[in-house]
Amino acid sequence: MPTSDVIIIGGGIVGAASAFFCAQAGLGVTLFEKREALGLLTTAASLAAFRAQFAEAENIAMMLESISFFENIRERTGLADADIGMVQQGYLFCTTNPETPARMQKRVAFQRAHGLADVELWDGDETRKHFPFVSAEVVGATYRARDGWLSPNDLTNVYARAAVRDGAQIFNETNVQEIIVSGGMTRGVRTTRGEYHAPLIILAAGPYARRFAARYEWDLPINLIRRQHAAIKENALIPRDAPMTIDADTGAHWRPEGRGAILAINTDEAPGEPTDDIKPDWEYPALALDGVMRVSPFWEQIAETLRKGDLDVRAGQYDMTPDAKPIIDTHPHIRGLYVHCGYSGHGVMGSAAGARILADLITGKAKPADNAFGMERLKHPDADTREKMVL
Ligand SMILES: Cc1cc2nc3c(=O)[nH]c(=O)nc-3n(C[C@H](O)[C@H](O)[C@H](O)COP(=O)(O)OP(=O)(O)OC[C@H]3O[C@@H](n4cnc5c(N)ncnc54)[C@H](O)[C@@H]3O)c2cc1C
Repeated sequence: MPTSDVIIIGGGIVGAASAFFCAQAGLGVTLFEKREALGLLTTAASLAAFRAQFAEAENIAMMLESISFFENIRERTGLADADIGMVQQGYLFCTTNPETPARMQKRVAFQRAHGLADVELWDGDETRKHFPFVSAEVVGATYRARDGWLSPNDLTNVYARAAVRDGAQIFNETNVQEIIVSGGMTRGVRTTRGEYHAPLIILAAGPYARRFAARYEWDLPINLIRRQHAAIKENALIPRDAPMTIDADTGAHWRPEGRGAILAINTDEAPGEPTDDIKPDWEYPALALDGVMRVSPFWEQIAETLRKGDLDVRAGQYDMTPDAKPIIDTHPHIRGLYVHCGYSGHGVMGSAAGARILADLITGKAKPADNAFGMERLKHPDADTREKMVL
């Protein structure tokens, strides 16, 4: 019977990162992905962006660690040709509300106190001096130059390639049907490729994690919410050196992508069931365009001449936890069963730090009590009263 130290269920960016960090820790890893290649589900729908500008200390620490990993991807993975398409053109949160700059100032003070020394706070004129496309209505902004975006497909494959170099086995087109549990411990999995044994199992099945865990009496507090983005293929009016530009009052945001751009706005959605076939709405690009033109008015001009063929829409599911932070934890009763999911829209940017934390918990390098992403935190929801950011 094939045996390894750890089996990973799911080959999205989170499963691939988990494979890399576990293999680096010296564990024998086997990863199963049911689709024909890695990273084809939620990971492929992502806007691919990363930022350290968060309002919670744990998130700031997680993203600073991940961004440092991305910036040093070749040294960190030992792959001399690793290329994850990283672009650091910053994140710009803009507001037109005269009351918001005071709140931004408090948030920046908090961020600076938590290790984010390079976040800037600008008034409207300063914002337009740096980014002339910003509307005259904007009265304040925060900006961090080292935030940006990358290629989630390349990053997933870099994690996987480095894991395989370190001895991991990766099987695509392999559905994990069941976790084998006996005597209160995990023993392995049954898959469409046969039975595989390991004392440790990591459930990194993205939108499918909650349903899978429920079969083992593990109630993960995750709601699946459809999220979409619209891609504009090419337009000369789009400033190619722009940052990810967010309307902090509404959450509408856009960023350049090659000669085009990616736009998004969150719409009201009821929680859904996990699915591999998330249908996008064709009205969505119109909503996103309407949303982004408030702080970036050049979009009005683009919208006037846009045709359906210039556009693409993609949809995926956010796996939302109550506090929008991931779940990295062990089953309360079944020894050896771990979960790594619930990234709530931040799984590309959080993947490196989250997987490092998971590997440290598995090897005993970190204690469960030091883990900010365990489920225990959710028992005290009122403890976190800090103001949240719009995205
Ligand atoms: C529109 C949109 C925009 C986003 N923008 C950003 C962004 O800008 N920045 C950011 O950081 N994040 C963003 N995200 C979130 C990010 O995409 C996710 O957090 C991340 O991709 C989650 O990765 P994952 O590996 O957990 O899940 P997935 O990528 O969904 O991977 C899970 C994998 O598990 C496999 N699987 C499930 N069940 C089984 C089984 N039984 N056996 C074998 N395999 C199985 C699936 O086939 C799938 O490949 C966005 C998401 C959406 C939808």
